[in-house]
Amino acid sequence: MFEHLEIAIDSAIDSGAKYSDARVLISKSRSIAAKNGEIENFNENEKIGIGIRALVGSSWGFYSTYDLSSESLKQAGKKSFEIAKASAMVAGEELPFADVPVVEDTYTTPHEENPFSVSSSEQIDLLISSTEKMKKLGSSRAFGRLDFWDTEKWFASSQGHKIYQNIIESGGGISSLSVGDGETQIRSYPQSFGEYRTGGWEVIKSFEFENHLDRLAEESQRLLVAPQCPQGTMDLILEGSQLALQIHESVGHAIELDRILGWEAAYAGTSHLDLKKLNKHKYGSELMNIVADATLPGALATFKYDDEGTPAQRVDIVKEGIWTGVLSGRDSAAVAGVPPGGMVRADGFGRLPMVRMTNVGLLPGDSSLDEIIEATDEGIYMETNRSWSIDDLRLNFQFGCEVGWLVKNGKIIDMVKNPTYTGITPEFWGNMDMLSGEEEWVFWGTPNCGKGQPSQIGHTGHPASPARFKNTRIGVRG
Ligand SMILES: [Zn+2]
Repeated sequence: MFEHLEIAIDSAIDSGAKYSDARVLISKSRSIAAKNGEIENFNENEKIGIGIRALVGSSWGFYSTYDLSSESLKQAGKKSFEIAKASAMVAGEELPFADVPVVEDTYTTPHEENPFSVSSSEQIDLLISSTEKMKKLGSSRAFGRLDFWDTEKWFASSQGHKIYQNIIESGGGISSLSVGDGETQIRSYPQSFGEYRTGGWEVIKSFEFENHLDRLAEESQRLLVAPQCPQGTMDLILEGSQLALQIHESVGHAIELDRILGWEAAYAGTSHLDLKKLNKHKYGSELMNIVADATLPGALATFKYDDEGTPAQRVDIVKEGIWTGVLSGRDSAAVAGVPPGGMVRADGFGRLPMVRMTNVGLLPGDSSLDEIIEATDEGIYMETNRSWSIDDLRLNFQFGCEVGWLVKNGKIIDMVKNPTYTGITPEFWGNMDMLSGEEEWVFWGTPNCGKGQPSQIGHTGHPASPARFKNTRIGVRG
């Protein structure tokens, strides 16, 4: 494939581009969805194509095609140059472009069993039996889904990069929905919308769906008759997957350098962060240590090189509550004066790579969920996301969870339904006063992060363990 890349890149450079890179992708996907013991959807897809970028001045041109004939590749290189040249007509100072090591390398996601080598009937059977059992246990509607991706990427640049990567991702989940008098309640496992990791079929086996069917069916029905979540300001304890989404929305998007620089205002907004406050701004309490780490084995956004050929790395984002880092690519890092973070990825070959969260996670503390509950006089423990909203600046948010548990005098005393909480990013994180340790630290993954115009879907990771937030507004409705 590298010879295909070379034809396109040479054509862009010969046309006059000062830099060019290109990716050929072979992307396989399999997606299976079941309801009440029957398969609702089975979809398999395989795509091949090339995406090429050309840099003229400080402007990118991008072009992609399914056609890998040499005539088409030459055309693609030329087109990418022409698009860059047209954008470069808009006057502006020439921006720097950070250097990264030029490497030739290969990488394959460590995995035990490629999910595409496992028979689809075994995968289908798992969903049929899981959803059938929950239905028998009283679910009004029982859902299950599995998704697999096997992506081969060849990357080359006019600077000499030659990188082959094979990224394998697996995930899915199950839910029990109960319908009552004018309301529905749902319980999901491992998290709402499923849980996703890099790795093979063993990822799904590790979830052990069979051990959670009774609980999901029972809890979704019990929620129908549970009291409403109380309203007030009290302690909030968050289970890991909800905390993962909290990190994604109130930290992950806010630290994207293209948003901070105002390049990416179109979709879901900008950021409340200002680069002048880097290394000074108080993001949260001293327990708050956030890293963006694309090297964590098994996490969803783990790879060896990003889509600009920059090595995967670990970057401190928040250290003991102080904002210290951003998510960047070669162009944005050079503008901001930070080292390029290797956080640029594209959704397939047909999209321009952009700044993307890697595994943006909260490092574990030294407590445990049991200890947190024991130490809480009055509060709500919330599990599994159900709804979210956050403003464009990533400051004011409201989240709803599937289930709440009322904690009084160090004990869970009741289930409550429709739990919600609201907050303002720095205040909320400033109130985090207890954090669970490594044993409860899970590499939560989100396969559906939308960003950009045209919209791209990103796969991001958010390691987290349960934590407590003091004085949080709980039970706000509407
Ligand atoms: Zn997102």
